[in-house]
Amino acid sequence: MGSQRQADFDVIAVGAGFAGLGLIHYVREAGLSIRVFDKASDIGGTWAWNRYPGAASDSECYYYCLTFSKELLQEWSWSVRYPSWDENLRYMHFVADRCDMWPHIKLNTQIVSADFQEDTGLWKISTAGGDAYTCRYFVSAMGMISEPVIPGFKGLGTFKGPCLHSSRWPAQGLDYAGKRVGIIGSGATTVQMLPVVAKTAANVTVFQRTANFIMPAVQKPMTPAWEKQIKADYDAIIDKCRNHVFGMAFDSPVGRNLADTPPDEVQQILEEHWPRGSFRFVFETFDDLLSNPESNRIVGEFVIRKMLENVKDPVVRDMLTPRGYPFFAKRPPLDHGFFETFNRDNVKLVDIGNREPLVEITETGIRTTKQHYEFDIIVLATGFQAYTGAQEALPIRGRNGLLLRDKWEDVSSSIMGVFVADFPNMFMITGPQAPFANLPTSIEQNIQYIVDCIKKMERDGYALCEPKQAAEVAWVAETADIHRQTLMAQGDKVHSWMMGANLEHRKPRVLIYYGGANVYYDKLRASADAGFPEVEFERLAG
Ligand code: NAP
Repeated sequence: MGSQRQADFDVIAVGAGFAGLGLIHYVREAGLSIRVFDKASDIGGTWAWNRYPGAASDSECYYYCLTFSKELLQEWSWSVRYPSWDENLRYMHFVADRCDMWPHIKLNTQIVSADFQEDTGLWKISTAGGDAYTCRYFVSAMGMISEPVIPGFKGLGTFKGPCLHSSRWPAQGLDYAGKRVGIIGSGATTVQMLPVVAKTAANVTVFQRTANFIMPAVQKPMTPAWEKQIKADYDAIIDKCRNHVFGMAFDSPVGRNLADTPPDEVQQILEEHWPRGSFRFVFETFDDLLSNPESNRIVGEFVIRKMLENVKDPVVRDMLTPRGYPFFAKRPPLDHGFFETFNRDNVKLVDIGNREPLVEITETGIRTTKQHYEFDIIVLATGFQAYTGAQEALPIRGRNGLLLRDKWEDVSSSIMGVFVADFPNMFMITGPQAPFANLPTSIEQNIQYIVDCIKKMERDGYALCEPKQAAEVAWVAETADIHRQTLMAQGDKVHSWMMGANLEHRKPRVLIYYGGANVYYDKLRASADAGFPEVEFERLAG
């Protein structure tokens, strides 16, 4: 072992979702001690919080999981293609139980600050209960979509009934049967929630500011034959995820561009793939949909035509039509019956983008410029402060007391989404300027990289790893340069969280490395193989 400074734990991580659990495995394997804190009452991260009706993963189950144990992959059985929040939670309990992870996890513990101590080189992590722990390595495993956006609507707080963010759905459930429900927002959360809530609520009104491009999910049960095939093929599946631009087990690139394909063949290929469901539609049809504006326009028109096919009311169809931005400049939700739900008599869509902007929340409902809507329950499905929100919610202080949230005021800079200059011995799992990809794949790649760095320090007797300013400047520039060349750079026109353009308190920014998850994973590996040239390793003086 290297430096033996006294610390309560070698590693402290905040967040007991996929990242926290994966970290426990790899850190323990390296022979180091770890404590994972979470303010939630359960493990699960996203799935401990997002318990709204219909909440489910949009990645297919068999690669939306941790892959460090072949035995676990063989033992666990999924029931459907896209598992519900509670099935995901059961899976995570299975991992924690089978790998005896519980002794490393402390729930119901809110971390209120993380401070780098200049004199000892340790991090001090303080809890809301007044406890403080030290560690040599601090890891943010808080998730890249976890801190909610609560818009500053006039009158928020005056509503007499339950008014809650979608990700704060009570663990004991919320009885909406026979009630009048207002949902503000129409992103992936509402697309999942609406069809379920509308079944038993007296009525549901969706307040939409921007219409989305939405693709079919096509939920289906896991059959014994499909499960057998998956389990026989797991090495190849993991390999596919590791080498895919979106970290998913997709068969792409397909080796053809829409731009070079005759129009009738284009339509035939799109028609063929549409009913298969999932993000496969984007990645297994053509390779240029997210880079060539004309190809993007053509596929966007196809998506609009197909997704609205079953919406009967022409006014509602018009309101649900996305306009003025490229397909995927906002993350497209997957449809589980969203559109058909608008044919029900108890469901209404209100366009707060153009036709009747939202004015205020009142004691009994929501007022727009045209009328007042009465509700028993209001759901704020208003999204998240992606990539930076969780880290900024805490004071995290690095060298000279520098606050991470201050550092990120204008640019959410990092080195590969993992290191931040002026924050020695701090690591982020899926931090800003990492790719947007299948999260468990990215999480596990990040963890392996982080633990390799820690292992090097332990082996070679280093106390500190100091991310280099020059390496950060270079990564920020490379990420911005790639971002500029993509169609996703137009997300600022439509409040896309992928650019932080959904935040009232911040300017839009580059949050995602769009060079491809596979290329990014290669870069992590190359860095580890080269001995982490992005950081300076130091021994403590004295
Ligand atoms: P979102 O996509 O950011 O949608 C938020 C919605 O709230 C949008 O319709 C937005 O309108 C609206 N909104 C926000 N602030 C508003 C304001 N001040 N006034 C009026 N409307 C406002 O959030 P989300 O639906 O929670 O989804 C976020 C991401 O979480 C997804 O893209 C996905 O990556 C992840 N997620 C995943 C799953 C899954 O995998 N199963 C499920 C849910 C969420 P604008 O569009 O006009 O901004």
